[in-house]
Amino acid sequence: MNWKEILGQVFLDGGPSTCQFAITNACNAKCGFCSFSREHSPKADSVQNFGPVGLNSSADAVSSSSGPLGLAKAFPSSTCESLPTAAPACEQAVSQVTPTSNPSTKPPVSPKTLVQLSPGLNAIDCLYRNGVRFLIFTGGEPTINPYLEKFMQHAQELGMESLVVTNGSTLSPEKVEGLIESGLREIIISIDSVDPQVSENNRGLPGVTQRIVEANKIFADNGVGRVASVTLSKILGDLTLLPQTLKSLGFQAVTFSFPLVKLDSNYLGYKDSDLVSYTPEEMHKLIDDVMDLKKSYAVLNPSASLEDMHRFLDKKPQEFPCLGGFKQFYLDWNLQLWRCCNWRRPMCHVFEFNGSQIIRDGCTECMIDCYRDASVMQACAVSLADAVHAACFNRWSLCAKHLFNMSNMRSWGAVLESSHWLDNL
Ligand code: SF4
Ligand code: SF4
Repeated sequence: MNWKEILGQVFLDGGPSTCQFAITNACNAKCGFCSFSREHSPKADSVQNFGPVGLNSSADAVSSSSGPLGLAKAFPSSTCESLPTAAPACEQAVSQVTPTSNPSTKPPVSPKTLVQLSPGLNAIDCLYRNGVRFLIFTGGEPTINPYLEKFMQHAQELGMESLVVTNGSTLSPEKVEGLIESGLREIIISIDSVDPQVSENNRGLPGVTQRIVEANKIFADNGVGRVASVTLSKILGDLTLLPQTLKSLGFQAVTFSFPLVKLDSNYLGYKDSDLVSYTPEEMHKLIDDVMDLKKSYAVLNPSASLEDMHRFLDKKPQEFPCLGGFKQFYLDWNLQLWRCCNWRRPMCHVFEFNGSQIIRDGCTECMIDCYRDASVMQACAVSLADAVHAACFNRWSLCAKHLFNMSNMRSWGAVLESSHWLDNL
């Protein structure tokens, strides 16, 4: 995707969309603040499927390059396997399912599942036809899905950009080369503490630090961006020491994830744990600390988004509404498409996605950084598209209102703050 195409989409409808594609709900780590953890599966029988390939042993997970591929054999049949493999007519399909504000019960937890090749490729086609140009492959641990590289190659052929979020444990030199050859532009690796030993212990992945250092060297030699993803938790340690740690590991920038103790979708990247339980006062202090860190290291969370986080904690109206369901989406391992990781019900199956399910309701229900940070950066593009549409109908005062406001300036500021990220893409 080039800048010309991006600009065209900006004028048309506010720019390209982004989808977080969770290509598995399995993980080989045991992070204390995450329910994807190998030790926190709600279905003990499905966890036992890890046994034969040794991913209950963290040492195996780190040292065996065949482990991730072998894992597929140990999985129960994915529900995705039974999905149609012919190119779906997702443009024609119309789903009547739209999220409502009515509370509904939390969806049942899925058994461990890998998105299979053919349905995964078709899902990417459907996303492409609906304006998604940035794919963030996530999980669980996405690198244990043996089709990850195939999905990335397909996305690249379509002109989409791929990012991968990983715990780093499977990044052998061969795996790294494979990801680079498949068009990887940016790798996002989770780090839990300024002390690498504390990070390894929390993950239950001994040796993962050295693996990350070696992988980052190869990524750097090939011009792949390297971003650390750090959850704000009580094992993080002295934040002022973080830049030193991240530089020694070969990272260029950091993005912080705010603690999540509950999510309303089927996404399990949360846990009601003391490690991530903070009072509002403690959260205010942490946000200020993150803001301070911007002076000494590349922090990708926009300042405007951090300011909105303060407002959210104070229960005040926020400046930037979330674009989840409009410009950002979450696709799960059963290929259900959601507006975000925190909505109560899916929008539709991805094969039914045809644009009619789009939601633009100015939601500010939560402050999940993945959606809110991106929304702040895309707000100026959406305003520009709104102004163009208003001008098309000769509504000049509305057009001017969309163009000339302080929020646009702050959104542009957020784009500039993240210029490192955008440069890589
Ligand atoms: S935080 Fe990431 S690496 Fe840790 S258990 Fe959750 S999905 Fe796995
Ligand atoms: S504010 Fe939260 S719940 Fe609302 S769309 Fe965004 S991520 Fe989802």
